[in-house]
Amino acid sequence: MAAEVTLPSASTMADILNAVSVGLIVVDQDQNVAFWNGWIEKHSGIAAAEAVGKRIDEAFSEAPGKTFLNAISNLLQYRLPVVLSNALHRAPLPLFAKPGDPVSKERLHQSITLSPLVINDQGCCLIQVTDATTSIKREKILRSHSELLRKEATTDGLTGIYNRRFFDEHFKIALGNSHRQNTSLSVFMVDIDFFKEYNDHYGHVAGDKTLIQVAATLRRQLMRASDVVARFGGEEFVLMLPNMAEDAAYRFAEKLRLAIWELNIPHEKSRLDQRISISVGFSHYQKMENTNPSELLNTADHALYEAKHRGRNQTCFMALPPHPNRTSYAAS
Ligand code: GH3
Ligand code: MG
Ligand code: MG
Repeated sequence: MAAEVTLPSASTMADILNAVSVGLIVVDQDQNVAFWNGWIEKHSGIAAAEAVGKRIDEAFSEAPGKTFLNAISNLLQYRLPVVLSNALHRAPLPLFAKPGDPVSKERLHQSITLSPLVINDQGCCLIQVTDATTSIKREKILRSHSELLRKEATTDGLTGIYNRRFFDEHFKIALGNSHRQNTSLSVFMVDIDFFKEYNDHYGHVAGDKTLIQVAATLRRQLMRASDVVARFGGEEFVLMLPNMAEDAAYRFAEKLRLAIWELNIPHEKSRLDQRISISVGFSHYQKMENTNPSELLNTADHALYEAKHRGRNQTCFMALPPHPNRTSYAAS
């Protein structure tokens, strides 16, 4: 047999409504406060005895926001519930963790729901307020954690520039963009010359320091937000620059090489003027030219190989091979 439920008396009901950790206000048809619970007292600093009977726009220490007051008028007129989401309306009411505390003057973040209510045949508005501060704090922490994780996943731990994984993903996107937008894409492969000898002679720690310096110098040569430099692996770096004319790409490759040369980092074991140098291989994609974009990275790598072969500390360009399946790539 089901247990019989005895409803609490009216005074017990009031005790419950005053004890819940939700703010409850009832406003009558004339927008006068009819009920003001303990939670609202605690966070507004205004006693129920003081608030009940006052118009809602005069019941608080400061007038509530316009959106809140309009929402009440609309509800009383059209009898439809309204939610004031915390994302759009952070703190419409002057409610505080400790009202009157001169230190924490910041309002509580609030989630407010307005519902139509009928009491003694009179249409009223029930206002429920919850403190969203904790959930917002938690959300902020989660967001900054995921931002940190994302950064770690795409950044090279030693040099702080992007890693291979980031490059691979963004290279595909950049290639798609240049195809769709009919812009060019230049790719530069960079490799430090005789770096094994450098490590052998100066030690791995010095080698790491030089890698950091080279990476930072390459990064300083970039000018636009869409330009990317990444560590490709070991002492190799890759750069991609959209929307650059072919002759400008030549000049840029030389600019990279000279920037490293001018760092003047001693390298006794290098056979090239005893300082750190790089070799650069690059290639260039332009949609109209009927070439095969999927070969862009490979071709830049071949160009790098050629720069090494020709004696290092130099730049070498290699044109993309023709597209294997199309007579005109532009017609695709
Ligand atoms: P080349 O001019 O033909 O490029 O000769 P190389 O000696 O630079 O090329 P090789 O591929 O023979 O050697 C690359 C060296 O790069 C080997 C390794 O000691 C060094 N290296 C790769 N990654 C790191 C790293 O993270 N830190 C340090 N210190 N050295 C690294
Ligand atoms: Mg090398
Ligand atoms: Mg190498």
